[in-house]
Amino acid sequence: MCALPTAAVVTVGTELTSGLRRDTNGSEIARALAEAGYHVASLSALPDDLLALESALRTLTSLHALVIVTGGLGPTHDDITREAASRALGRPLASDNGVVERLAALAGRHSEPGARAQMARQADVLEGAALLAAVAGTAPGQIVPTPAGALVLLPGPPNEMRPLLSRALEGRIPSTPPVRLRCIGITESDAQHRVQPAIAARDVDLTLLATPDDVEVVLFARDGRAEDLGPAAEAAKLALGTSCYSDDGASLAETVVDLARRSNARIACAESCTGGLVAAALTDVPGSSDVFEGGVVAYANAMKSGLLDVPEQLIARYGAVSDRTAIAMAEGALQVGDATLTVSTTGIAGPAGGSEAKPVGLVWFGIARHDGRTHAVERRFGGDRDMVRRRATATALDLLRRSLLEG
Ligand code: AMP
Ligand code: MG
Repeated sequence: MCALPTAAVVTVGTELTSGLRRDTNGSEIARALAEAGYHVASLSALPDDLLALESALRTLTSLHALVIVTGGLGPTHDDITREAASRALGRPLASDNGVVERLAALAGRHSEPGARAQMARQADVLEGAALLAAVAGTAPGQIVPTPAGALVLLPGPPNEMRPLLSRALEGRIPSTPPVRLRCIGITESDAQHRVQPAIAARDVDLTLLATPDDVEVVLFARDGRAEDLGPAAEAAKLALGTSCYSDDGASLAETVVDLARRSNARIACAESCTGGLVAAALTDVPGSSDVFEGGVVAYANAMKSGLLDVPEQLIARYGAVSDRTAIAMAEGALQVGDATLTVSTTGIAGPAGGSEAKPVGLVWFGIARHDGRTHAVERRFGGDRDMVRRRATATALDLLRRSLLEG
C-alpha cells in the first residue's frame, strides 16, 4: 500500500485527444506533484466534452486528495472546464467582480462585440473556490474544496499554467526528490541488472527511462522515506561505473563542458555526418566559450582536405568514412586554434549511400589530443537518419567525456 496522498491529472482539449497538439502539461504537472509528495494515481486526456469531463471529475474528486485539470478555461464555446467542474461538485458558478473588471480592461483587443461579451465567461468562479490570479494570459485558476481534498483548475497554455501550478502547490512539503543517474554506453537491461543487486537491501524503488541516446536510472525513496536514498545512489553509481555521466540532472554536453573546465582543456570538433550537431550541443551550454574553440562542418571531401588538411590521397584510398579519415579530421581540427582535445565524426546517416562494407549507420569517430594520444572508434547505429545523427552526436560527446576522464 502506498502511504502518500493520491493525485489525478486531467488535461482537457480536443486538440490533445486528436493528436493535433502534444500534451506537455500532463507530464509537467505529474512531475511537480510527485516532487511535492503525491502519488500520481491517474493521468488522462479528455476532449472538450462537457459530459465526459463532468463524469470523470465526479469520480476522480471522490477518490483523490488532489485533482488538477488543465485546459478549457478560455472564453470560447469549447472551454467547458468550469461548467463541468461546477456540475461534478454541485457548486454553482457566479461571476467574480474583480475578474470582470480586469477582463473589461482587456476587452479592447477584440473587434467582434460577441467576442468581447464572451470574455466574461472567464470570470465565472465555482462557489467556495479560491482564485489563482492570472500571471500570463487572462484566465485565472481556481482551487475548489472537495470531500477528499481539492480540485485545481489551471489554464491550458503552458506559460499560463506553470506559474499558477507553482502557486497551487505552494506550502506543500516537498518529499524527497528522486535521484536521476544519467548514463550512456550501456543498455537499459544491463543498467537494471547492475543496479538491482546493488540496491536490493535498500528501501528504494528503481525505474529505467531509455531514450535513443541515453538511459536514465531513477531511484525513488519508497513512500517518501529518505534515509536510504543517498546510500542507494552511491551503490548504483559504483555499479554503473563510467557509463554514469551525471547524478544532478546535468546533460552530457554540460558534463563535457564542466570536465573540460576543470582540466583546463580546450575542445574543438570536425563534423561530417553530424553536420554541426556536436558544436550545437556544446554551445547550448551557457559559458561553454570558456572551453569550446569551435567546430568545422566538412561535409564534402574537398572541405575535409581544404579546411582540415585531410590528404586527398588518404580519402581516395580509405574512403571518407574510415578510421584514417576520422583521425585525420580530428588532427586537422587540433591544428586550427588552441584546442587541446578534438573529436570528429564521419559516417553514413542514410537512407542512401550505404554499401555492404559500409552500411547505413556506420560512423567513425576520431579523437585527437595535444599529447599525441589519438584514436579512432567505430560504431554501427540502428534507426533512421535522424536517429543515426542523434546517436552519433551523443557518442562524440561521450568520447570527449571519456578522454577528459582519462586525463
Ligand atoms: P485552453 O486553455 O484549453 O483554451 O488551451 C489553450 C491552448 O493551450 C491550446 O490551444 C494549446 O495550444 C495549449 N494547451 C492546452 N492544453 C495543453 C496541454 N495539456 N499541453 C500543452 N499545451 C496545451
Ligand atoms: Mg481548449
